[in-house]
Amino acid sequence: MSKERLKSSLRNIPDFPIKGVQFKDITSWFVNKEHLAELVDLVCDIYKERGITKVVGIESRGFILGGAIAVKLGAGFVPARKSGKLPSETISESYNKEYGTDTIEIHKDAIVESDIVLVHDDLLATGGTMLAVYRLVNRFSPKKVYLNFLIELTELKGRELFPPKTEVDTILSL
Ligand code: AMP
Repeated sequence: MSKERLKSSLRNIPDFPIKGVQFKDITSWFVNKEHLAELVDLVCDIYKERGITKVVGIESRGFILGGAIAVKLGAGFVPARKSGKLPSETISESYNKEYGTDTIEIHKDAIVESDIVLVHDDLLATGGTMLAVYRLVNRFSPKKVYLNFLIELTELKGRELFPPKTEVDTILSL
């Protein structure tokens, strides 16, 4: 699928969920079986030679393709969830949002030092959510951490939050 076709099939919802936000509705990609399969392929093509052992999906839109990507890469899947949702022992990281703070958690036994981790989310905006997960994953001291988004809103410069050598890949830059 060309990037242009991808772009034209992405639905933009103005003023959702609040006025001023141009919401990128990725469900308009996922509803089409060819697009869905091609998106999984596009992501996996980037990482297929990198020895990924765990895919971390960020709640909630990072869960949608996260599992499919993990299966295709022959890796395990780890959910990074909002505070209080995971049933076993967790480690957590808090981060600032526009209003107040949020906390994200991963099960304490979900990642080990021999892992090569791919963290996946749907969209990079300010980068705050991914930065919290990136820090959290690094506390497990895995061999390597890669970051992946389907969409990057380049104007918001979220990518600049990450240390310069961090490998950040996106399928579509807008
Ligand atoms: P941020 O922490 O600012 O990078 O925000 C990233 C999270 O917010 C992602 O998980 C997205 O699901 C969601 N998000 C932020 N802005 C948008 C947008 N314009 N359209 C769709 N989702 C968004």
